[in-house]
Amino acid sequence: MSTINQSGWRPTSPEKGEGSSDTFTGNRALMLEEPLIFEIGSNETTGVDFGEAPSGKSRLGGLERAKPINLPGLSEPEAVRHYTRLSRQNYAIDLGLFPLGSCTMKHNPRLNERMARLPGFADVHPLQPVDTVQGAFEVIHQLAHWLVTLTGMHSVAMSPKAGAHGELCGILAIRAALDAKGQQARKVILVPESAHGTNPATAAFAGFTVEDIPATAEGRVNLDALKARLGPDIAGVMITNPNTCGLFEPDLKAISDAVHEAGGYVYCDGANFNAIVGRVRPGDLGVDAMHINLHKTFSTPHGGGGPGSGPVVFSEALTPYAPLPFVERQGDHFILVEEETAGEHHAGSFGRMVAFHGQMGMFTRALTYILSHGADGLRQVAEDSVLNANYVLRAMEDVLDAPFAKSGPCMHEAIFSDKGLAEGFSTLDIAKGLIDEGYHPMTVYFPLVVHGAMLVEPTETESKATLDQFIGAFRSVAARAKNGEPALKSAPHHAPRRRLDETLAARKPVLAYKDAPKAEAAE
Ligand SMILES: *Cc1c(COP(=O)(O)O)cnc(C)c1O
Repeated sequence: MSTINQSGWRPTSPEKGEGSSDTFTGNRALMLEEPLIFEIGSNETTGVDFGEAPSGKSRLGGLERAKPINLPGLSEPEAVRHYTRLSRQNYAIDLGLFPLGSCTMKHNPRLNERMARLPGFADVHPLQPVDTVQGAFEVIHQLAHWLVTLTGMHSVAMSPKAGAHGELCGILAIRAALDAKGQQARKVILVPESAHGTNPATAAFAGFTVEDIPATAEGRVNLDALKARLGPDIAGVMITNPNTCGLFEPDLKAISDAVHEAGGYVYCDGANFNAIVGRVRPGDLGVDAMHINLHKTFSTPHGGGGPGSGPVVFSEALTPYAPLPFVERQGDHFILVEEETAGEHHAGSFGRMVAFHGQMGMFTRALTYILSHGADGLRQVAEDSVLNANYVLRAMEDVLDAPFAKSGPCMHEAIFSDKGLAEGFSTLDIAKGLIDEGYHPMTVYFPLVVHGAMLVEPTETESKATLDQFIGAFRSVAARAKNGEPALKSAPHHAPRRRLDETLAARKPVLAYKDAPKAEAAE
């Protein structure tokens, strides 16, 4: 990083002038360099004028700060520019396509935001008297109705706050159901290799022993291997469908029947429900519990640490063990069923997942999304997401190895491997090359069952023209990796930062400017 002179200018290459592509400021036209706020703001400058503090007796008992706090100070325009410049170095769904796989929904219709911000939804307090939040309860109740209807299940727990949280909810209900039957000995959860990584983590966290079930050469669950492992110690299975290879599990019904016969339960990871919504009802496939990531299928973009919501739908068998509280309709009134008011039917409930009801803003967005699409629109969501992924798959399979392409179409995401790249070139080089092309890279090195995996999920909201442009860039970068073009090894060349030591950045993040020994920072 360049040094800053007294006036705050950072001449990166003052000796370079006309004819050079380097600039005095380090900026490249609209791509503006931006130092850390500590490097431009000083303690002495500030956009705020505080009056002298009235002198009086301190009540801090000797704990007063002895030295200046050393917060960087900037004027208001400088502060606004600093953060605006930083924000422009981000990639965003409002700038272009996000090919990330296993993330599903990225577009978030503005209508949903409008609805979620209505004061009757945005400003309610979880401890408000029930009579004052009837509209909010009606939204939760209606959304619950549609989730149960779309999945063909019996009930839904709305409160879990993410996909993984929903998994925990479903697995705790399974544990409660087994315990109620006196089957404490069922301690093993089977998890196919093609499951999402959160599945085995959840089962282990809930105290189960996790055992792998191998995948077939086609990337599906090996039904025979699964059947052979069933027995009196099996609590259930956790199956991701569509799985992390972007494939539908055609044997799910046969798997459910076999697991039920052996006395276990079937947990389905339905995070990516958008690939099958309106086409397949998991209830018909014998699923006992499944979470739906509202933030992947029913609006609210995934990622960025924003709120998640992972309602869990239950079969009739697991419903008595579902968590509290939930909203119930009584005539034209909505009530909250809690521990004190739960009847005998819910006496088996395993407890609570969260203190209150769940994510009101996400419920409002999801219901808005569902109602604005209607039944036919939701079905089209599934069709278009699958069509778009297959379009990418077929457009790429002659330049990149597509391990499962021969066994038929994919679902909502297309997967490629690093087979056939030039010696010394890897998936990472393709990802970095895509940054130069102006794209956020696809998901890389996941799932683990595919070597050097590249998982691309365009989603239903991208047009053919947008896909064609992405495919053009992806093909070009893939071809460079196959031809072993040396420049690709040091991509990105046009991004604000070059290739970083990501392992070091993850293992030793430098979070405090003051204490940062420069050599330890990733750049
Ligand atoms: C995203 C995802 C999860 C985890 O959901 P979070 O909301 O991130 O906890 C679980 N399973 C699958 C298949 C997913 O795609």
